[in-house]
Amino acid sequence: MQNKKKYSCINEFDPSALDEVRAIARIIKSISQLKKNEKLKIKDAIDRVCFENIRSKINIPSFKNSAMDGYAVNISELKKNNYTLKQIGISLAGKPYSKELRGNETIRVMTGSLIPNNCDAIIMKEMVQANKDSITFPKSIKKNQNIRFIGEDIKKSDVIIKKGKIINYIDLGILSSIGISSIKVFAKPKVSFFSTGDELVSINKKLKKGEIYDSNRYLLFGLLSKLPVIIKDMGVVSDIESNISKKLKECSKISDVVITTGGVSVGDADFIKSALEKVGKINFWKISIKPGRPLAFGKINKATFFGLPGNPVSAAITFQLFVVPAIEKILGIPKNKNLIIKAKVKTNLTKKKGRIEYKRAVITQDKGENFVTTTGLQGSNILTSLSSANCYIRLSAEINQIKKGDYVDVLPFGIKI
Ligand code: AMP
Ligand code: MG
Repeated sequence: MQNKKKYSCINEFDPSALDEVRAIARIIKSISQLKKNEKLKIKDAIDRVCFENIRSKINIPSFKNSAMDGYAVNISELKKNNYTLKQIGISLAGKPYSKELRGNETIRVMTGSLIPNNCDAIIMKEMVQANKDSITFPKSIKKNQNIRFIGEDIKKSDVIIKKGKIINYIDLGILSSIGISSIKVFAKPKVSFFSTGDELVSINKKLKKGEIYDSNRYLLFGLLSKLPVIIKDMGVVSDIESNISKKLKECSKISDVVITTGGVSVGDADFIKSALEKVGKINFWKISIKPGRPLAFGKINKATFFGLPGNPVSAAITFQLFVVPAIEKILGIPKNKNLIIKAKVKTNLTKKKGRIEYKRAVITQDKGENFVTTTGLQGSNILTSLSSANCYIRLSAEINQIKKGDYVDVLPFGIKI
């Protein structure tokens, strides 16, 4: 008990608690990138992280072609022939007309079809007058109009996808357009997690008095399933320090990242910190944010360990703020700055000074102005107000009052927090 008093969470100004920016920096510094990779067919590589700089072996477009359905002309010949030419052929996508244009010649061309080398303008079909094979053109023609040039999208040997990029559906389009059928991606890191708490019951059992369903394991599963990782659900462990230590050791042997929820604070049944000190090494355990102050970060053997708080909202926020950047570092994804948007608050807001606060909120736009309003009760147990939110309002430690109409920093979900 003596020991526990020392780590009290009562004081909002806790000099030993890190702000989230310093905490993320410490996490990232202590983690190294996974070196393992695997080669996958491009369809299987979606949402995976590219392991190599991918260069194109061809130009895109690989041949000069038309951007319109129309007629290919050589402008100087067109002028010489008083803007009337003879149609002598047709070029279709996949069925090219490969000769040069000579004298008074024009050919009909379709979008994407190969066009003669010496053609320097394509005139839209709708702009000409056709009288059988005799085609009369308008006088206002610009050099190179409606022509797609070789390599204007991708040049041969350009890096088109960088190491560390998450492959998305656009990349599947790009990779297939340059004829690449498989690529190397980072191997999936293994992430194991378990819940701690004597009150926790599986969702298919009946609840007795004082018991609750173990929802954090499902929450974590959901959060992890958005990332390219192998998920290992390791169940529930009771509030007995030796059981927790044993499970932590077991998890560290089979995973790159180990996550627990609950038991990380200063209650009589909170054993994560002491168990971690026995089987691994603690790096820090307090963050000056609300919700989510108790958070234990460290190492167990080679595995990175996160002891997230038990309250579901705190677990979700600390996962988004700290675990996601850690997994991104393991996977070689470059760290981007969080997107922060300024928005006007629709109501007065209050908070205590001392901790950075993340409030669940909804951001909307009206006549080009951003507005934000909180989604109801903000207790760290109130998951429904997170479910109806689309952003966090971030209030810095020194603030204790925000007036209706003031501008605040907003971190939208789904884009990047
Ligand atoms: P703790 O940090 O263990 O004191 O837990 C803080 C709060 O979160 C308590 O109300 C716990 O009952 C609750 N909690 C802990 N673990 C879970 C879980 N796996 N699912 C849902 N609630 C939990
Ligand atoms: Mg507990």
